[in-house]
Amino acid sequence: MNSASIKIGIVGLGKIARDQHIPALRADSNFELVAVTSKSGAKLPNVPTYHQLSEMLEGVADIAAVSFCTPPQGRYALARQALEQGLHVMLEKPPGTTTAEIEDLAARALEKGVTLFSSWHSRAAPAVQRARTWLANRTIHSVVIRWKENVRQWHPGQQWIWEPGGLGVFDPGINALSLITAILPQTLLVTEAQLSYPANRDMPIAAKLKLCDGAGMFIDAEFDFRQIGEQTWDIVVDTDAGRLRLAHGGATMHIDGRSITLDPGAEYPTLYKHFAQLVRSNRSDVDFTPLRLVADAFLLARREIVEPFYDEPPAIA
Ligand code: NAP
Repeated sequence: MNSASIKIGIVGLGKIARDQHIPALRADSNFELVAVTSKSGAKLPNVPTYHQLSEMLEGVADIAAVSFCTPPQGRYALARQALEQGLHVMLEKPPGTTTAEIEDLAARALEKGVTLFSSWHSRAAPAVQRARTWLANRTIHSVVIRWKENVRQWHPGQQWIWEPGGLGVFDPGINALSLITAILPQTLLVTEAQLSYPANRDMPIAAKLKLCDGAGMFIDAEFDFRQIGEQTWDIVVDTDAGRLRLAHGGATMHIDGRSITLDPGAEYPTLYKHFAQLVRSNRSDVDFTPLRLVADAFLLARREIVEPFYDEPPAIA
């Protein structure tokens, strides 16, 4: 493919499409946003909008790529349809509801000779490369992950999160797992999990995990959707050469309390730059390691039932 812009469509005009994908695409000369689809009939000014993917693929003859910003449930069938029509595909995280879905999509992309990119936006956070380099030659003793946010603040009205396949608290928690699997060189294993389910929901509102590398390094992780006040997206790594702390989801980095200056960089522009490089070099980038860790946590988990969760907080008497 030459350097002409890649004509791309977006499927699903929800929060992340509007907050991140559309601004990133509009600022990137590698791409031309030619269409969107919206099941609910949402509109984007000056961009043709279709109700569903098949109509978009019929309506825009030279569309070359599709970026899926829908919830994970149902994304497999759509992505498969796009790949089968010879389009390049970018997937929001998590790339699917099961690991088999991703393996199948990867095989189809290979067969069709098109690009599949399973994006993990947290891996494009400013601290990730520096942290990986700093950790590469050190002995890691332990890791503590605290990923705690207020679901009512960050996911208002997103019912799909509580449905099977929506992952509950692992929807943000998988971002932490995508980060540690990017900065730690070794394979990680889940050894224990405790999942807390609201009495009226099918997905967990909180989770505690223990992981290890089988060679003496331990990870203690807590994810919680009930956090009021300060919101926490932190990872602390203790090594033989000091303590590394990533805060704000990897936006900032400290070594032994000292703040490290990082190259500024925004996650979604970085993801689209990478997607363009993949398309132009006819390669794919597919990794479902974080989803496999979540799946393993569900396999191993002890379960506790906690208070029902309602979208509106209970009135104070
Ligand atoms: P959202 O606000 O609920 O938007 C998802 C959009 O997908 C909906 O507005 C809807 O758009 C479409 N959709 C298609 N089928 C749907 C269904 N069965 N249920 C609900 N919506 C459906 O969700 P989001 O926050 O943008 O998240 C989408 C994906 O991005 C998730 O995988 C999430 O993990 C990931 N993500 C989200 C954030 C964030 O901060 N919100 C950050 C990073 C990644 P139309 O009606 O227009 O079709």
